[in-house]
Amino acid sequence: LADTVRNDRPEDLAWQADKNHFIHPYTDFTTFEREGSQVISEASGVTVTDTDGRTYIDAIAGLWCINLGHGRTEIADAMGKQASRLAYFNTFGHSTNVPASLLAAKLAERAPGPLNHVFYSTGGSTANDTAVRLIHYYFNRLGKHAKKKIISRNDGYHGSTYFASALTGIHGVHLGFDRISQDIVHHVSAANLYRRPQGMDEAQFCDFLVDELQQRIHQLGAENVAAFIAEPVMGAGGVLVAPAGYHRRVAQICRENEILYIADEVVTGFGRLGHWFASEDRFGHVPDVIVSAKGISSGYCPLGATLFSDAIHDVIAVPQAPGGLLSHGFTYSGHPVSCAAALATIDIIERDNVLGHVREVGPYLQARLKELMRHEVVGDVRGDHLMAGIELVRDRAGRVNFAPELGAAHKVFTAARKRGVIVRPVGNVIVLSPPLVLGKADIDRIVDTLHEALAEVSPALLAG
Ligand code: PLP
Repeated sequence: LADTVRNDRPEDLAWQADKNHFIHPYTDFTTFEREGSQVISEASGVTVTDTDGRTYIDAIAGLWCINLGHGRTEIADAMGKQASRLAYFNTFGHSTNVPASLLAAKLAERAPGPLNHVFYSTGGSTANDTAVRLIHYYFNRLGKHAKKKIISRNDGYHGSTYFASALTGIHGVHLGFDRISQDIVHHVSAANLYRRPQGMDEAQFCDFLVDELQQRIHQLGAENVAAFIAEPVMGAGGVLVAPAGYHRRVAQICRENEILYIADEVVTGFGRLGHWFASEDRFGHVPDVIVSAKGISSGYCPLGATLFSDAIHDVIAVPQAPGGLLSHGFTYSGHPVSCAAALATIDIIERDNVLGHVREVGPYLQARLKELMRHEVVGDVRGDHLMAGIELVRDRAGRVNFAPELGAAHKVFTAARKRGVIVRPVGNVIVLSPPLVLGKADIDRIVDTLHEALAEVSPALLAG
């Protein structure tokens, strides 16, 4: 991109304005200063196009979110109609709007049994903050004021607000930053099967993780622990699929200790694993709280939703004193345009049987990706339906990582992008989370491109 000739076209002015003024999330300032941004200006179906007219398969659905693909006029029209009719009015107290109300009922119908109550926010971070804040409030209302600690997992990603970042267990995210709540958030091991201690099989590793959690609860004192938070399949931490039975067993331990289970389904919800929510349908347990964002509006509008069980609702719904309020909320809680986008998303998922489609093409993607193991630098290929991770290693037998400064996954990303496919490098893992509506031909193109990209970069990686 750096050598592209820049002139006075509006898109080039945008490129310059971006470079001068826009602080991008999660960005390396050094390369940004040198290269600037790729300006994505149009998109349709599973492809995006930049201002230089290059079109790419978007194998990451924007950022795990454009689940129904780009350029869906039905969603855009629903948003436009809603914006013209009622763009905004607050939902504090007793006012509401039609899309937010109807969406709440639709979410309750689709969430596991007792999760019938939704609190709206603006994305995954605020939805996770909401989960913790209301859980703390819940235990306060029960008179269990000591129950405040949250157990999270190393490599878990839960967002970027101050508290959601404290929940996040990815080491690099914290470098140079302060952490609040040092004594509130505690991390246990990631359910990383590929990096499990040597000599353990999957079942033994599951026992190990469950024991570790039990010990941690014991150390902290169950009376001090409010909740456990986990993604059903860890996403940004490298697409980690837990050992069989892990979530069910963890949920059981939580129940035994009156610890609430928060399932962060920001990525896994809304179809990515072939179901509305993965916790019950894929992993066989009913959490107390489900956190949703991203795919809920198919990424067309910012929206977060925290779903609470009847049991939690019944406690927090009792005012502290006559006339007392639940003092939590965002200006944009239940934003009509975002909720209209979510309603249109649900309609399309049902009308087009998108969940069935994911259950069909998901295993095809996973099977084809396994072929990448033929490249020596690929140590592991893993995932579930339409989320996948390809971990690169310097030495497969010893599972030895490439040094981070080598940017191994980034090199594959660049080689794939040159060939028209956008994947996401995360550490030494190449992450895929394509739009749910992609077809088998798109999957073939993505996998074939990854073969070529890996073949191109492997010799230099292994030599370096
Ligand atoms: N939780 C998970 C599992 C996520 O993957 C993300 C974002 O990637 C978040 C929470 C934070 O969501 P947001 O960026 O919308 O605040």
